[in-house]
Amino acid sequence: MSTDSGSFGSDAGLVVQALRDYLADSSDRRHGVLDQQVAEAIISELELEKWLREGDLGGAALAQWVQDYLARTTRLHHPGYLAHQVATPHLTGALGALIDATTNNAMAIYEMGPAASSIEYFMINWMLQKIGWKTVPCQQQMDEGSDHAGGVLTNGGSLANLTALLAARSAAVPEFWARGNPGNLVLLAPEQSHYSIKRAAAILGIGEDNCLRVAADGNGRTRPDQIPAQLSRLEDTGHQVIALVANACGTAAGLYDPLREIAAICESNGIWLHVDAAHGGGALVSKRLRHLVDGIELADSVIWDAHKMLRTPTLCAAVLVRDHRHLDHAFSQQASYLVHDKDQPGMDFLMRAVECTKSGLGLKLFMTLAAMGEKGLEAHVNHLVDTARECAAMIAEQKDFELAVTPETNIVCFRAGDDDAEQLEVRKRLVQAGNYYISTTGYRGCRWLRLVFMNPATGRDDISGLLEEIRAIRVELGKA
Ligand SMILES: *Cc1c(COP(=O)(O)O)cnc(C)c1O
Repeated sequence: MSTDSGSFGSDAGLVVQALRDYLADSSDRRHGVLDQQVAEAIISELELEKWLREGDLGGAALAQWVQDYLARTTRLHHPGYLAHQVATPHLTGALGALIDATTNNAMAIYEMGPAASSIEYFMINWMLQKIGWKTVPCQQQMDEGSDHAGGVLTNGGSLANLTALLAARSAAVPEFWARGNPGNLVLLAPEQSHYSIKRAAAILGIGEDNCLRVAADGNGRTRPDQIPAQLSRLEDTGHQVIALVANACGTAAGLYDPLREIAAICESNGIWLHVDAAHGGGALVSKRLRHLVDGIELADSVIWDAHKMLRTPTLCAAVLVRDHRHLDHAFSQQASYLVHDKDQPGMDFLMRAVECTKSGLGLKLFMTLAAMGEKGLEAHVNHLVDTARECAAMIAEQKDFELAVTPETNIVCFRAGDDDAEQLEVRKRLVQAGNYYISTTGYRGCRWLRLVFMNPATGRDDISGLLEEIRAIRVELGKA
């Protein structure tokens, strides 16, 4: 049996060796950043059917199989990885995932994972303190008489948005849980919001059509001056706003909404402010960038993904609320076999999350941070943003490229020529060549090439090389 602890050490050694070779090949560009084969071919080449039939994956066969698997992955440690907001993970954080999988302390309740739960509680408090919110010792966490902040870690920003907006819904319309939608509810969100906001509106029974846009400027940034008029129109028509969403930052171009001004309007109108800081929450760990999220402390809820700018392996997202009671009351439901009066030395997070069984998400974040140190993390975030801004300035100087907007964070949108289809064709050819993996986005009414700087090893020279490769593609296309 290859699963007993007898072979664990030697098998783990083989896996780690394969991973080390993989990481070296990736960072030295000895392999393309991605190489997409047809799914059926991969299934066949990795002999998936054979392994299910025969079992006994271990030893030299395991080592070979892992190498074959790794050869078919998308390499986030390759300097040409510029496509998505998923972290190039810290390897100590990755070891956290191994420890978590091995111990399997599925900590819906404290007794199923005291260390994992304590770390989750600790990391939540670390995040709350970065926002500037009040934290209390664990024993007082569920205290109904106190207005301290609280949170929970969950499996991704999309689920975090859903959970935060559920808390907003429960606060605005407590009877919704039992009786359903009274019929006049709306959610306000910027057009540049992540799609998970509209999806949450639909899942929460508010309806995607009742997720209304707030006015934005030409770059898609919310215009606070337009909100009061929209609110009074909604009031005149008998609508109730369950929350207003602000971006910190938006998904396409990474711009931050003016949180302090938006918060003042929400405050004076008694509206829940939800800040989606899934990506841009990274600014909270940087003294230099903190101003981008100025006013975030005035929000009612915030979500923040550690698996984006904080280098943590997927997934680790936080739902954070200024008043813990909103999250404690979000799910108005009891699971009697798990939740009952019990004397225990820690807290159960299950009543704050969609999940019941949940992995030790905080361990990966903690181990990443413990390896880098807070100063190291701050330097990492600053470096990603500095590199993106420098490269944007370089792109802006080229006559044959257009920069969409001066970046505020590590996301850069630009294009070559003015044909939307051409941007898609350029990306397709880049991805096929495998030296660079970038994305495209719709923004300000047209299509842009989009770079997200996640790998600390990506530098200016990589972007010069990318521009040269795009130029060569445009020559092939007869566009230059
Ligand atoms: C990435 C992102 C999300 C979704 O988070 P996942 O972890 O991918 O589910 C939501 N909002 C914003 C602004 C994001 O950048």
